[in-house]
Amino acid sequence: MLTFLTIIFTLNISFFVNGKESNLPPLKIHPLPVSLQQWTSETQENYFSEIQPHLAGYLIWSSFPVRVYVQSPDEDLSPAGLTQFQQWQKAVRIAIESWNPYLPLIETDDSDNADIFIYRRHPPLKLEINPETGLFNRPRATAATTTVNFYLTPTPPVQLRHRMSIEVNPHQTFDYLVTNITHELGHALGIWGHSLDTNDVMYHSHSREIPSISPQDINTLKKIYQQPTRLGWNIDT
Ligand SMILES: [Zn+2]
Repeated sequence: MLTFLTIIFTLNISFFVNGKESNLPPLKIHPLPVSLQQWTSETQENYFSEIQPHLAGYLIWSSFPVRVYVQSPDEDLSPAGLTQFQQWQKAVRIAIESWNPYLPLIETDDSDNADIFIYRRHPPLKLEINPETGLFNRPRATAATTTVNFYLTPTPPVQLRHRMSIEVNPHQTFDYLVTNITHELGHALGIWGHSLDTNDVMYHSHSREIPSISPQDINTLKKIYQQPTRLGWNIDT
């Protein structure tokens, strides 16, 4: 079965700081993280042209390590349910470790101070209009989704920042879980688009192949982190 992975985003353009209307901070380039400075590869190939710049600029992190909150099991789970949940957590941790050499990530229990949230639940059903008929297609279940939200830091200096939420359908085999979560983490780290090559983990869908992170994925990630963003800069108030 084909598994489609989707990305959703929203942003309020105007906002107020201390009761005063403020402009979005200008687009500027952050220093390239050391882990990406050190990345070299025999191939220069990438799929940067497929990446969507956002109104907020490229959706990149500027303070490291990026803090990842992984959902914990409820206390009333049955022993079998707990085992399944722990398998899911294991898949999440493999996915986190696979990105860690390229951008530092750290798991945190503190959901008030996390950057990326990973939840074990059904992603919302996706409604699509069929261009041929003008009617809605039957909603289809997705394996996982990544959603971005924006906020202003509550203490000075005020900055526009983002959080990423990943929802993962638990009803998948272990290998698919690892691949899907690795793919969604790619979105959460800033790869806001899809590769056209089936060998890349950011290919838009997965059927038989279980790809892992490729040099093209990291070449693309590195190029994204050399782009301007409004995220992580102080806002004049
Ligand atoms: Zn995707």
